[in-house]
Amino acid sequence: MRQSSLVVVANRLPIDDSVAPDGACEWRRSPGGLVSALHPLLRHTPATWVGWAGGTGPAPALPDVDGVRMHTVALTADDLRDHYEGFANATLWPLYHDSVEQPEYHRRWWEAYQRVNQRFAEATADVAEPGAVVWVQDYHLQLVPGLLRELRPDLRIGFFLHVPFPPPELFMQLPRRAELLRGMLGADLVGFQRSQAAHNFAQLVAKVLDVPADDRRIVVDDRVVRIGAFPVSIDTVELAALATRPDVAERAARLRHDLGSPEQVILSVDRMDYTKGIEQRLKAYSELIADGHVKVRDTVLVQVAVPSRERVGQYQILRERVEREVGRINGEFGRVGEPAIHYLTQPFDRVELAALYRVADVMAVTPLRDGMNLVAKEYVAARVHDTGALLLSEFAGAAAELPQAYLVNPHDLEGLKQGLLAALRADPEDLGARMRAMRAHLHRHDIRAWARSYLAALDDDGSLLTRMGAAG
Ligand code: UDP
Repeated sequence: MRQSSLVVVANRLPIDDSVAPDGACEWRRSPGGLVSALHPLLRHTPATWVGWAGGTGPAPALPDVDGVRMHTVALTADDLRDHYEGFANATLWPLYHDSVEQPEYHRRWWEAYQRVNQRFAEATADVAEPGAVVWVQDYHLQLVPGLLRELRPDLRIGFFLHVPFPPPELFMQLPRRAELLRGMLGADLVGFQRSQAAHNFAQLVAKVLDVPADDRRIVVDDRVVRIGAFPVSIDTVELAALATRPDVAERAARLRHDLGSPEQVILSVDRMDYTKGIEQRLKAYSELIADGHVKVRDTVLVQVAVPSRERVGQYQILRERVEREVGRINGEFGRVGEPAIHYLTQPFDRVELAALYRVADVMAVTPLRDGMNLVAKEYVAARVHDTGALLLSEFAGAAAELPQAYLVNPHDLEGLKQGLLAALRADPEDLGARMRAMRAHLHRHDIRAWARSYLAALDDDGSLLTRMGAAG
């Protein structure tokens, strides 16, 4: 078994098995914040990525992706149902997002969660060289740091949670709360998107495990576990370069023409998820049309809503409700050849997304709760001419870094409408100043800065970072 000095462990490998129209199997980068976030970094350092390749067959042997070794973990149909769709996405996901949907608790799901976490820990132990740095990602794998430490106490283990970490009142519902906290404490460094999340974690550790904890460090089993906020970011340079490509500019111009050359384009790009506030946004938009503040001929809304987790009941229900509402709004307010909402469920690749970002005069990102929201940052990075308005939920992690956005509470329908109108009617000079400030922030705080600051905090002697610097 080839071993690496840096191992990233995540539920998914940074590839997606999709079948091309001619029946050939085609591997491509899968959508999703984490994959987009880590990909540019791992190109520059010899590393192994441990993860699931999709599907429920035996683990396929995969070629390296940009020099990163792919080490697959196999999942059975039962694992997929009970670990991925069950405990990860129907228990933890809603619980961590303010319980905007009711989390479900099933003992069988917990058993699967333990079993799959154990498998990931064993796979990681196999591919990590002595003293390697291991970086475990996200809520699917919260037990891995603890399990891995038992197998390989020589490793330097980091854990980063991409989603929010809830306040104690919510987390206390979780039947296996103590085990989950202990699993995370197997890491040397536990990173969150926001300092509030680190604070929540410290409070819970003190309360549930009776271990003294502050917002920076916890001493457990004679080890120090550090905690902190490391807001994830994007590849700003790549996005800006894409957005300035002549073919992307052309595609953007064509899109605008195809949309009927409206005065203003509002864009939303979400996974179809109940945390994204899609229904509230549609309601606000349709009320603005009904009130006469927005004219369908002058303004169009493009809503991209890419289906995800389609076998989870709550996601099926959401999709039906969103589609009914889009149909209602278009039926009521659209005209022949002039729909009020251009509704798209196909996934877009990075080039098409960049063109969409270029077209959007207002980007509406209004999740009810979101760990970060990379789409908001991507929009800002793509606005190379410092034009356009970002309407952003206070409850997205990005809001802590982008105070120049039009910040709204998506639960407050009136506030949401006012925010959207303010963004639509803003003075271009004011918008320019806001966009410049946001772009400057993202320029300094891009994906590399994020990874560097996290790994620097994790990597005591700095040897890994030195190698990365030399390569990158
Ligand atoms: N994305 C994509 N194609 C799409 C829609 C989204 O590639 O059609 C990407 C988008 O560019 C972003 C990620 O998926 O990098 C979504 O990340 P975000 O943090 O906004 O939301 P998440 O899906 O992780 O909750």
